Amino acid sequence: MTLSGKTAIVTGSNSGIGLGVAETLAQAGANVVLNSFTDRPEDHALAARIAKDHNIQARYIQADMSRGEDCRALIEKAGACDILVNNAGIQHVAAIEDFPPEKWDAIIAINLSSSFHTIAAALPMMRIAGWGRVINIASAHGLTASPYKVAYVAAKHGIVGLSKTVGLETAEDPITCNAICPGYVLTPLVEAQIPDTMKEYGMDRETVIKEVMLARQPSREFATTGQVGETAVFLCSDAAAQITGTTISIDGGWTAL
Ligand code: NAD
Repeated sequence: MTLSGKTAIVTGSNSGIGLGVAETLAQAGANVVLNSFTDRPEDHALAARIAKDHNIQARYIQADMSRGEDCRALIEKAGACDILVNNAGIQHVAAIEDFPPEKWDAIIAINLSSSFHTIAAALPMMRIAGWGRVINIASAHGLTASPYKVAYVAAKHGIVGLSKTVGLETAEDPITCNAICPGYVLTPLVEAQIPDTMKEYGMDRETVIKEVMLARQPSREFATTGQVGETAVFLCSDAAAQITGTTISIDGGWTAL
């Protein structure tokens, strides 16, 4: 399928799943807007590289997804938004009694509230264009819980509820809103959790990967950023026009347990 002529904004896309999704959308012909909170030469170079590799237009726009006004400014600066992928996210692992309140606030802001702001800013553009796709990167943790991830699990459950509500509010428009719920994907975010989880459980790295992370994923394999990207491309297709207000799991069977 071709997404030629469509503009896709992917939040938190200078690494990991966001970068994989942006690259897959670019491969399908979309012009892409990359984003993160940094404003380094390599961020802009990444956009230039994607534009060249896929013969599309790509831009990098700095915006801090912990700030509501930045979220809305990102959409305004992009100037067009046919496909919105809310992906920016952070994690912190600790028991609730030890969970720093500032980490709770940051996770709720970046992983949940940012999507409220970007969607509110993007929907008017989609309505004018007469077509739109909102794709929220939730998680298996949007459907089920794990200990020591209270803010992340709360935010991801919130994203699932937000996706359902926006799906209903746009049900009569040619716009869909869904959440993709990946299980574990080996990205910098997951790498960063390994030391804390090793400490919480008193385990070595390999044991944490096999016995804690992939223990919940019956396939015993990480999902890939490309698989998440191809699912986003599918959600942009005509075949997915009646898929809205729901979740698609890519979790090797995790949520079937
Ligand atoms: P990552 O750390 O590789 O990427 C996170 C991205 O968000 C980066 O580009 C980072 O720069 C950006 N970001 C962080 N704070 C930001 C801020 N304040 N403003 C703008 N951008 C910001 O992590 P990832 O694993 O690729 O995670 C991406 C999304 O996928 C997250 O929402 C995460 O919860 C979700 N997810 C990840 C997994 C997994 O196993 N990796 C599984 C399920 C869901």
